This record gives sequence, structure tokens and C-alpha cells, in this order.
Amino acid sequence: MYPVLYMRITQGYMIGSHKGYYAVDDGCSDTAKDYMVAPFSGTVKQIYPQYENQVFFESDNPVLFADGTEDYATVMLSHQDSPMSYGMAIGKHYNQGEKIYVEGGRYAGKNGAIATHVHLEFARGKYTGWHKNEYGYYCINNGKKPEECCFIDDSYHILYNYGYNFKKVEALDEYTTGNYITLFNMNVRSGAGTDKAILKVKDLTEDGKEHATSKRANDVAVYKEKTVFTAKEIINKDSSVWAKSPSGYICLKDSSQIYCEKV
Ligand SMILES: [Zn+2]
Repeated sequence: MYPVLYMRITQGYMIGSHKGYYAVDDGCSDTAKDYMVAPFSGTVKQIYPQYENQVFFESDNPVLFADGTEDYATVMLSHQDSPMSYGMAIGKHYNQGEKIYVEGGRYAGKNGAIATHVHLEFARGKYTGWHKNEYGYYCINNGKKPEECCFIDDSYHILYNYGYNFKKVEALDEYTTGNYITLFNMNVRSGAGTDKAILKVKDLTEDGKEHATSKRANDVAVYKEKTVFTAKEIINKDSSVWAKSPSGYICLKDSSQIYCEKV
């Protein structure tokens, strides 16, 4: 997740003091000093207090990037004034969403030397340090565009995104056990997944048979539209959600459509 809840990007990547690399400066909500949250659960690997209090923070596990790839992630935050907040120290662990850093104006070892903001760099992979690029700027190794790394959600306030489109995490639909009604004729399968066989009418319970499109024992088992059935268990598989009913498995939704609704 993006570490600033009030996004107001004041300088984009690949220009000015970010020439040749994917840093952004974020001024956050206003001129006051906002805090940053840990974008993932991880550990502080390096701090450079003598310069701009740069902090390198590495994920515990591989994380999902906004571009759909998975890998370890490292973020670098910079410019917090001293003293550091929230127990900042090398080896300190933070859970995703915990306060980790505060924007500041520290530059070349001097607090308040520049306008208050946070400088952010995101990288794929574990912490491996930084390097001086061809324009003379120090930048994180394996740097990556922020919008290819970070998600946002409805709790974020986007004041200015600099034209970068950050992907929203969709709120996960909460499917629970109970009664559902089919919105279409629906196949009843032997397991959760369209790769699982469609049952035969004879495999359905007596009540299930009542709602099948066919009465013939060896025909495929298809529930008529507006059949009410009981989901004893909910199975999330890939991007679909399935219900296990006494007769068999029915798809509730997939990435393109909703097939059954709770009643
Ligand atoms: Zn910067």
C-alpha cells in the first residue's frame, strides 16, 4: 500500500532531482508534518542519520505489486527530521499500516533545511542498498514506478497524484454460508471449479431434483433460474467464489459476473 494517506505528489520521477530514477516527493496533507504508514509488514534494514535520515524497509515475505507481480519489496523514505519517531531503528519490525515515519525537511544532516515532504523510492526484491546513477543521484537498487508497486483504497485522500494512476484494492466481497438464489440456470458440479465435472440429475438430493431443468436421471444437473439452495461452505478459488450445497458445487460469482445472490 502507498505509505502516505493524503497523497499530494509534488515532484514526479525522472525529472529534476529525480532524473534517471523512480523517486517521488509527497507533500502529504498540508505544510504540517504527516506520518507515513508501513506499506507492508517488514523490517528496517538501513538508516543514514548523517544525511537525510533515509530509511530502507524490506518486506517480510513476497508481496503483491500493483502490476500483478509478486516479489519481496523494499521502500526508501527520506527527509524526516531528527529525532526519529515510532521506535525507528535498524532491525525494528513494523506491521503493515503501522506508523513508521514522519515527513520532514532534513537535508545534508540539517533539520528543516528544505520544504517539508517525504521522498519515496520503491524497489522490487530484498534490500540491496543504493547506487549513484548516471546523473549523480543516489537511488535505490531495482527501483520501480510507485504506481506499479503500491495500491490505494477508499481510505486514501488523493489531493494530487501527479497523473499517476494508483490501483485501488477492491473491497473483498464477503460471502457467507446460508441460502442463495440462482440468477441463471446453473450447473451443479462435483467440486469448486469449472474444471470439475457437472453432476447428473440422479446425483442431486430429492429437493435438488425438484429444481433441475431435467427430470431424466442421466442428464446433466442444472438448477433452474430462481432456485434457492443452501451454501454449507464457501470456497474462494482463483477469482471465483463457490458454494458447497448438499447436492454439489455451484458458482456464486467469477471475475466477470455474479450468478447467485444471498436470500
Ligand atoms: Zn525527492
